[in-house]
Amino acid sequence: MHSAALAELGLGEEWSYEAIDLAPDAFEAAVQAMPAEGFAGANVTVPHKGAALALADELSETAREIGAANTLVFEDGEIRAENTDADGLLRALPGSPEGKRALVLGAGGAARAIVWALVREGAEVAVWNRTELRSQHLCEELGGEPVSEPDQAVFELIVNSTAVGLHGEDPFVELPLSTAAFSPEQTVVDMVYGSEPTALLRAAEEAGATIVDGIEVLVQQGALSLEIWTGRPAPLETMRAAARG
Ligand code: NAP
Repeated sequence: MHSAALAELGLGEEWSYEAIDLAPDAFEAAVQAMPAEGFAGANVTVPHKGAALALADELSETAREIGAANTLVFEDGEIRAENTDADGLLRALPGSPEGKRALVLGAGGAARAIVWALVREGAEVAVWNRTELRSQHLCEELGGEPVSEPDQAVFELIVNSTAVGLHGEDPFVELPLSTAAFSPEQTVVDMVYGSEPTALLRAAEEAGATIVDGIEVLVQQGALSLEIWTGRPAPLETMRAAARG
């Protein structure tokens, strides 16, 4: 996705985007060495998003409040931490969530960015998580209301930010959702992505709901990171086509 975007922007010769696997105990030293190696920045993913925040010299307000960074910028000898997951989700939605009733499933790293973004935009946010204590803590920190038995039909926006579906788990067994309670008035987002549409999104679409898949959210957060590093508008269509293979 990033390589395709850099080529489209005519930066394919000078810039490259590389995947680097790091063990947690090697993370900080490797990142501190990156500016001298010529890197302009980095995306950071699980399990390093907290460590990325901790090592940065400067934090964006979004990264600080969410408590995680997915984007690092190396500039003027400093490391700046940003979080584009929150705005990536908002850009992937068909419209503003302001005033909407939203149900977020999950209380892990992805849920933190989503709850923060939806609360900031003025949605009324309910958070369900398998381990209730985690959703309670998340809401104390970021806003939203923890719920244990959500009434699915009343929500205009439903976001699955659990890992359910990643390895074929049945969302209608593991999550407090039923196929019968989706409706055309709803937008359903599944952060889980793969080569096939998830069972959750297939059922939501069959019921007439608007669906947003995890690849669209991935593309939008990646586009925002690319814009921060290069200062150029990201070629979204090119990135989408590359991400969808
Ligand atoms: P995480 O921090 O490990 O959190 C995992 C979450 O899933 C927790 O809330 C956990 O609940 C829940 N969970 C796991 N198995 C479950 C089950 N069988 N039943 C009910 N709940 C279950 O992971 P994360 O970083 O938030 O990522 C979550 C998912 O979002 C992953 O699939 C990831 O690939 C995806 N993601 C997508 C994007 C994107 O751009 N599209 C970005 C980030 C993440 P407990 O607290 O009870 O364990």
